[in-house]
Amino acid sequence: MDVIVAADRAGLVKARRTLGIGAPSGGTLALVPTMGALHEGHRSLMRLAREQADHVAVSIFVNPLQFGPNEDFSRYPRTLDTDLEVCADEGVGLVFVPTAEVMYAPDRQVAVSAGEMGTIVEGAFRPGHFDGVLTVVLKLFNLVQPDVAVFGRKDAQQLAMIRRMVADLDLPISILGAPTLREADGLALSSRNRYLSSHERHVALTLSRALFAGAERRTPEEVLGAAHAVLDVEPEIALDYLVLVNPATFAGVEEGYTGEAILALAAKVGSTRLIDNVTIEL
Ligand code: AMP
Repeated sequence: MDVIVAADRAGLVKARRTLGIGAPSGGTLALVPTMGALHEGHRSLMRLAREQADHVAVSIFVNPLQFGPNEDFSRYPRTLDTDLEVCADEGVGLVFVPTAEVMYAPDRQVAVSAGEMGTIVEGAFRPGHFDGVLTVVLKLFNLVQPDVAVFGRKDAQQLAMIRRMVADLDLPISILGAPTLREADGLALSSRNRYLSSHERHVALTLSRALFAGAERRTPEEVLGAAHAVLDVEPEIALDYLVLVNPATFAGVEEGYTGEAILALAAKVGSTRLIDNVTIEL
């Protein structure tokens, strides 16, 4: 069946009716929110979404609210035609592609605050970023009304913040975290990888190598030491942070911590800022 493309609330209401979403006979819906420029990582989320519900919706929206003034909003890749082909190929029933005007009224006042957790780690380098993410995600939830939403663990703090919002605001939606898809050489797939020259791409491989080196170790000090040892010998990496954190709170883990932790980093390679992480059992 063809993909239904909706651009606003009225289009969504019509599409939900056409697809029988929310009908008494079933018709559950899983949402995969994206900013487009879809790659294999997004496809893996769509496949996971298909296992969760009768229908899959993908949203494609480059959200101005989550970009800082010196970030790549205007040059962020926009590839709608091929994105729609990808969605059709993955059996997606509904694609929501709103404009910024549809999403944000000029006189809007109310937004979601990510709280203190939105100001640490990634949030310390991108002030207001998680407020923008949570605001758009809550709006997408309200517009699309999915039963389940699928997010990548690639954006681990984003996933943790969304789980926090769902818990704190009692949202009636299940959140599913999906594994990070990587190229064969370890580079995490990202829409931003297309900014990299072939030399920069080679340099960027240091990031996943550092995370994998850290993941071999079992104490916080050793994990961070092993990852730093890989990063520190690559002068073309400008590291924003390398942290070992609690997956739910993103607070740094102390020496003696046991259980799951996330080793996360952000770095610039040339003018491209990349993030990546791995989960480690300590
Ligand atoms: P984005 O379009 O970059 O906002 O990403 C949309 C969703 O895809 C987010 O939930 C991301 O975490 C997820 N995602 C991005 N890259 C990957 C990847 N390499 N593997 C799995 N999920 C990913």
